[in-house]
Amino acid sequence: MSDLLLEQYKHLGISEEVYRFGAKIEENLKERFKEIDERAEYNQMKVLRAMQENHVSAECFNISSGYGYNDLGRDTLEKVYASCFKGEDALVRPQITCGTHALALALMSNLRPGDELLSPVGKPYDTLEEVIGIRQSKGSLTEYGITYRQVDLLPDGGFDYEGIKEAINERTKLVTIQRSKGYATRPTLSVDRIGELITFMKKIKPDIICMVDNCYGEFVEEKEPLEVGADMIVGSLIKNPGGGLAPIGGYIVGKKECVENAAYRLTSPGLGKEVGASLGVIQSFYQGLFLSPTVVSGALKGAIFAANIFETLGFDVVPNKTESRHDIIQAVTFHNPEAMIAFCEGIQAAAPVDSYVTPEPWAMPGYDSEVIMAAGAFVQGSSIELSADGPIKPPYSVYFQGGLTWYHAKVGILMALQKLKERNLVNADLLC
Ligand SMILES: *Cc1c(COP(=O)(O)O)cnc(C)c1O
Repeated sequence: MSDLLLEQYKHLGISEEVYRFGAKIEENLKERFKEIDERAEYNQMKVLRAMQENHVSAECFNISSGYGYNDLGRDTLEKVYASCFKGEDALVRPQITCGTHALALALMSNLRPGDELLSPVGKPYDTLEEVIGIRQSKGSLTEYGITYRQVDLLPDGGFDYEGIKEAINERTKLVTIQRSKGYATRPTLSVDRIGELITFMKKIKPDIICMVDNCYGEFVEEKEPLEVGADMIVGSLIKNPGGGLAPIGGYIVGKKECVENAAYRLTSPGLGKEVGASLGVIQSFYQGLFLSPTVVSGALKGAIFAANIFETLGFDVVPNKTESRHDIIQAVTFHNPEAMIAFCEGIQAAAPVDSYVTPEPWAMPGYDSEVIMAAGAFVQGSSIELSADGPIKPPYSVYFQGGLTWYHAKVGILMALQKLKERNLVNADLLC
């Protein structure tokens, strides 16, 4: 059996030495993989129940066009999301173009001129800097007279409760909490830690709206942030909850009023959730959500496998090989641009799409150094599919995530290692 398997890996260009090293690492991960499978099983039931309780039917897959009045599939899907993530209501639309759009929508619709936005967990995700106006931008919250305040995490990753207490004032209307570390090196927040933070802030100001940027976090744990006091969670369908099948989309789930505000902003005052044709993509939203717990479990196994491989080989990894996981992102620091590029070439070479192209560093708009990206995805830019990227500057860290199946994540990681080995960028003694 394993001989046959080895042959398959060899056909793809992975040497016996690399394969056997991977097998040894995998052998030690059985217990952790079992926990991940159990969590996926739990979350599968959660999604299934949400679909059954809301009477998903074949009629839900009909295609609407034009205004999209009475689109049963769209309206039912929003009920499914609300049940699944424990919100009062949801907005799940192909008209929400990406995660940044969903977050901007949630912020702009729930804040008014004169209000203040607070981030108690440090600098938010890059693209939000322009939404908020941290980096000057047309149409930012700043232009509308909405101010922003930020309290950084303490050096040990803890919350600066003193600083947060001082920052909350009579204008503080909404708090944004990013669950995933994104492309920073701070730890990702567990749902329980988010709950502690929310409890603390609501004690100081009970009517404060707590929004969680849930990108990359969905189905990683049994619980989601609405279950620990958040008022609104926001995310992208080309990440976890789209299951790799949704070709576009974003969601907002939470308090009825928050979702209603967002709906009136997305379409128009007076129209809200009543319009917005689903144009035939809604079936993939259902199927993607249904598969998401399994897809996320594969991505998580890949992240843990990579952490164990590269930490064993002497590289810095965040999270490390034994830490608990609260999102699907894995960072590997190479301290060497060649190694970083070799890693990305391996991920690309293992892709089902565009495997024959070589990723090259390029000057991407908005970044102050060249960036390299490896992705061979069915959905453009999808980061629930196996992908890797990072800026070509010290400390030469690659962020990698996704994998529609564990097997694909595994072969991608082994291929990355293969490329590093072929260029003598790993300590060969550690490989045996
Ligand atoms: C990806 C991401 C976003 C932005 O989503 P896009 O779909 O890329 O616009 C925002 N916040 C976090 C934490 C993310 O990971």
